[in-house]
Amino acid sequence: MIYDVAVIGMGLAGMSAALSASEMGATAALIGSGPGTLNLASGCIDVMAYPPNQDNLPVDDPIAAVRQVASEFSEHPYAILGDKAVAKTLSWISAHTAAGGWPLSSDLSKNHRVLTAVGRFKITCLVPESYLAGIDLPLYKPLLILGISGLRDFSAPMLAEVLQMKGYKVRSTVLQGIPVGFQGHSLGVSRFFSESGIKQLGLQIRGFVRPGEIVGIPPILPPMPDIQYFRELQKVAGVEVFEIPTLPPSLPGIRLSKALRARCVSSGVELWEGVHALSMEESGGKIGSLLLAAGPNQRKLQAKTFVMATGSYLSGGIRVKGDTVIEPIFDLPINQKERMPLFSTSFLSSSGHNAGKLGVGVDSSLRPLGKNGRPAWENLFAAGDILAGHDPLAERCGGGVAASSGRIAGMNAAVAAGKGKKS
Ligand SMILES: Cc1cc2nc3c(=O)[nH]c(=O)nc-3n(C[C@H](O)[C@H](O)[C@H](O)COP(=O)(O)OP(=O)(O)OC[C@H]3O[C@@H](n4cnc5c(N)ncnc54)[C@H](O)[C@@H]3O)c2cc1C
Repeated sequence: MIYDVAVIGMGLAGMSAALSASEMGATAALIGSGPGTLNLASGCIDVMAYPPNQDNLPVDDPIAAVRQVASEFSEHPYAILGDKAVAKTLSWISAHTAAGGWPLSSDLSKNHRVLTAVGRFKITCLVPESYLAGIDLPLYKPLLILGISGLRDFSAPMLAEVLQMKGYKVRSTVLQGIPVGFQGHSLGVSRFFSESGIKQLGLQIRGFVRPGEIVGIPPILPPMPDIQYFRELQKVAGVEVFEIPTLPPSLPGIRLSKALRARCVSSGVELWEGVHALSMEESGGKIGSLLLAAGPNQRKLQAKTFVMATGSYLSGGIRVKGDTVIEPIFDLPINQKERMPLFSTSFLSSSGHNAGKLGVGVDSSLRPLGKNGRPAWENLFAAGDILAGHDPLAERCGGGVAASSGRIAGMNAAVAAGKGKKS
């Protein structure tokens, strides 16, 4: 079979590209060696919280910030995509995650403050429904933080203490008797939850909560993207409950990923999971096929067009060896100039690591540029973290860039394969 579009990478950018290509009527293959960084992320879609050169101050209006970044930084992916396409994508991706069982908030006008397990607030745009009761917490609202005995990802007493120091009216309690699994992390706990377990948890919350309190819990409900579990918990508890993101692996991120994967499957995208793209073969001046490997087995996959959504150095889209940086599949040049040293001495540096800004340059159609500054291949498009000109983590724009560039790259690839029309 010759696919219309072959997408390499099963992260947010790759799934967005495959979905949009298939919506244009293209046959699409989605190839991925691993799950991508969504499984590590909070489950929120960051659009723009800390624009470059703004003294590390968060912005309130993410779309206005996208517009500003687009006008000031010509190499930023948002300069190519534009704020309207970004806003449209965010509504589009919310509709898909909701249809996949895991709704996100749909308010694009404002960044939110999401409480994390260490008591810091994450600034982000689209949040899962299960976070909603806890966003933008006012100081006057009484809080009950519930912990689970034996859960190592989350300490309710520590979080309550940090919040008390910040002026919140908060108390905590630790529930006993909930199985936490061998390693004691939230993914393990979530596997033990049945519908009756959720009901019992709801009844326990109902017993502990005091009038006027809202209740924060670690993400421990099942890993499936099914918001009904959460709604049932709130119903039985009889109060507003919200999930608090913990360290990776992240259940809300996993649910988001599963919701989008389900949408890909129901849209007819063929998933090639656990498959590594090694290299490409040329045919008639274009890319004709990819050489794929699964363990010791190798085979070719043919397509009319290709989207690379292989992520940053964290996912293998870029390989960093000492001072050498390469793009391993297509041998594309990486914007490495003036980027040394690649890593800051502080792991959690607020200005990020230079390695996070590495990527491929693209033209206005998201086609990667070759060494001569022109599109390397007319039938190759790029999306997500692999794009140069942005820092997904330091700017908190990773999800917004990945979904928007993925949707547009998928559409462009479908059109180049002779399908649909761009809207
Ligand atoms: C710890 C952490 C937390 C984060 N939290 C957030 C957050 O809360 N909100 C937010 O918006 N963003 C967050 N981000 C950033 C965000 O996850 C990324 O910016 C975005 O999801 C990137 O998506 P992507 O699809 O471009 O890349 P990735 O998610 O990295 O996916 C790349 C894909 O390509 C595949 N791949 C790579 N090479 C090959 C190959 N040769 N063959 C086959 N497959 C290949 C990988 O297996 C993977 O499937 C976080 C990132 C990290 C690391």
